[in-house]
Amino acid sequence: MNDCRHDSSFPLAFCAILALPLTTLLIADDPVTLQRERMVADQIESRGVRNPDVLRAMRSTPRHLFVPAGVRSMAYEDHPLPIGYGATISQPYIVALMTELLAPAKRRRVLEIGTGSGYQAAILGQLAAEVYTVEIVPELAQSAAKRLRELGYANVTVRLGDGSKGWPERAPFDGIVVTAAPPEVPEALIAQLSRGGRLVAPVGSMGAQELIVIEKKADGTIRRRSICPVSFVPMKPAGK
Ligand code: SAH
Repeated sequence: MNDCRHDSSFPLAFCAILALPLTTLLIADDPVTLQRERMVADQIESRGVRNPDVLRAMRSTPRHLFVPAGVRSMAYEDHPLPIGYGATISQPYIVALMTELLAPAKRRRVLEIGTGSGYQAAILGQLAAEVYTVEIVPELAQSAAKRLRELGYANVTVRLGDGSKGWPERAPFDGIVVTAAPPEVPEALIAQLSRGGRLVAPVGSMGAQELIVIEKKADGTIRRRSICPVSFVPMKPAGK
């Protein structure tokens, strides 16, 4: 549709017909663009996230299209939101922080555990070449896959399954982001992390979770550090 404004050979009559919906679309989109700018400045930059690639992705991803219609007006507010089936879309700052901690410029192939709405996967899709994301709730896996496809995030692949097993057929990953909290990082995920790779995850029981970063060094040794307390939905065991 945008071609209409640049392609002088495009018939004028078509331009006239297309101009109306395009204008409506642009006006309708303005308030959310503004809300996103504010979200990034007030909630994310102000708390110390500086990575320009991460900030760019947070500015350009239509978060309001990843949440149910009933909570859409709150999409850019400074808190998580329910997305059904006991899941939540994380607070924007936490999505940005976890993405920055992954050091995304160095990651080609990224695995996410806990697709939920698909929002974190969409952010990762703009920073890594390939994103694989696993969701255990069939309805969420299905709706996220449809949403990501319709919004054009073509390098994100969704799989239904138990994320604690990772995605062995696509391993190794040079980045892994876990967005549901296990009591401890599953061994399979550490095994599927490549040398030089990095994993970001909430770990611990309800009310006592911390965000951790695990790095697998070139010699295969593991370094673990704790970032801050967080609150995520627990990772479900398979079959629940
Ligand atoms: N990253 C999501 C938010 C995730 S909420 C987003 O951007 O919207 C946590 C998600 O993890 C939920 O959707 C939940 O169903 C899923 N989940 C919980 N246990 C899981 C498991 N064992 N394997 C895969 N997904 C799991």
